Amino acid sequence: MSSTQFLVVGAGLAGASAAWRLAARGFSVTLVERDVPASEHGSSHGSARIFRFPYPRRQYVDLVKASVPGWEELSRLHGSDLITRCGALDFGATRDPHGLAAVLTEAGVDHELVPQAEARERWPHVLADTDVLFHAAGGVLDAESTVNTMVAAAEANGAEVLTGWPLDRLERDGHGFTAHSADGRTVRAERVVVSAGGFLPALLGNLSLPDAFLRAFPPLQVREENAFHFPHRDPGADWPTLIHKRADISVYSLPGGRDAQFRGQKVAEYDAGRAIPSAAARSGVVDPANRARVVEYVKTYLPGLEPEPYAETTCLFTNTPTEDFVVDGVDGVTVVSPCSGHGAKFAPLLGELAADAALGTGTVPDRFRVGSARV
Ligand SMILES: Cc1cc2nc3c(=O)[nH]c(=O)nc-3n(C[C@H](O)[C@H](O)[C@H](O)COP(=O)(O)OP(=O)(O)OC[C@H]3O[C@@H](n4cnc5c(N)ncnc54)[C@H](O)[C@@H]3O)c2cc1C
Repeated sequence: MSSTQFLVVGAGLAGASAAWRLAARGFSVTLVERDVPASEHGSSHGSARIFRFPYPRRQYVDLVKASVPGWEELSRLHGSDLITRCGALDFGATRDPHGLAAVLTEAGVDHELVPQAEARERWPHVLADTDVLFHAAGGVLDAESTVNTMVAAAEANGAEVLTGWPLDRLERDGHGFTAHSADGRTVRAERVVVSAGGFLPALLGNLSLPDAFLRAFPPLQVREENAFHFPHRDPGADWPTLIHKRADISVYSLPGGRDAQFRGQKVAEYDAGRAIPSAAARSGVVDPANRARVVEYVKTYLPGLEPEPYAETTCLFTNTPTEDFVVDGVDGVTVVSPCSGHGAKFAPLLGELAADAALGTGTVPDRFRVGSARV
């Protein structure tokens, strides 16, 4: 049986980051992944996630800022930028561009508030229904390349990576844990970091966690989301990312990169997919009613796209009720869940937070602690 100081479970953005940061701090690390890094069955696959600064809560803006040096380091390791800075738009009455702009001003993030009429001239392929918040530092991050870069960095720092290794349960003894795979293999570990994404709800009860921790754990809602790729009418047009929220619909959209064969825009309704008990219940079947809603949305608000998707997929969102992350642990097991469809932009920071939580170094925001008052 192999033995390690830290076992990290799951090689999505969170687990890859945790393995990298722990290995870089000099710990022996084994990273186990049920499938492959950036698995298509998880949430960190593919080429496109929005990188942006605006959040209604200043704390998250500061966390995006804190992740920037990590992105620079990862891009250097990767050999090219992992973030394409195409700029980002936020608009719609319930997105509150003016409120978001005020938070960015406070946080010292460059941005512009563009009046609606001017926004329609500047981005004619988008029909803004309010004033628009634009920030040039927003863009698209390549999730899969980020995971692979962090896994390679973990390995370069001595970590062992075991793919096709599904953790079934942790067994606690006096000095640590024996991790059992579903097919009977074992690894001994002094401490464990679990970052299993949408698989976490089904795994949480098998981690030898105390009842009080489990009772305080915020409920996790897993949804099978739908996403669609629409062709650009003008293949030469520059597209930013966008988040558009109205009382009747919340949509995000971004250049799809490799996932869209570089010829289209990914468009999805936010947090509108089918609720499922855990990732294993994912069907992979796109919801036709959701497709119809998104096509209608494109017809109405995105005149620069052909309103006929040429590709579509489902993916997993894992939500706490307040959309806050969970980064907390007890007695040697730390759980990291950058859930809620917005964790990718913090990727290099998630490993630092996981390592700090696991080592008790105390820089993890209280908000991410199990049992904190999340309002
Ligand atoms: C469609 C979509 C769009 C998104 N858009 C954005 C965006 O625009 N901006 C943004 O910032 N964020 C976005 N996000 C959110 C972001 O991608 C997620 O927060 C992030 O990928 C979650 O990473 P994770 O490591 O927690 O989970 P995952 O990526 O799901 O990783 C968990 C890993 O654990 C493995 N695993 C599970 N159980 C076990 C086990 N028992 N044993 C071993 N391995 C196991 C899985 O195979 C998986 O590889 C989006 C997410 C999705 C799905």
